[in-house]
Amino acid sequence: MSVRLELQCINLNDPSTDECFSLLEKGLGAVADDSQADVARQYKLLQKQAPAQGWRWAKLAQGSRGWLCPNCVALYESQTGQTLN
Ligand SMILES: [Zn+2]
Repeated sequence: MSVRLELQCINLNDPSTDECFSLLEKGLGAVADDSQADVARQYKLLQKQAPAQGWRWAKLAQGSRGWLCPNCVALYESQTGQTLN
């Protein structure tokens, strides 16, 4: 057995767009062996890959915190005038 990890966009629960990567099932994924050590390793890898793929960690006004997909990053930046790093 293996474990599938997927980074989901925090906008997924309240998408203001139908282009959200997680709606389109374009979320970042990884597959780990069925062990805590490998799940942790793959999890860390995902966190490293995410920024390189255009994902940004954000805290939204509604209180959700987590990763935003590249599409929602662009939307967030155009709505708020802020740049996410
Ligand atoms: Zn999104």
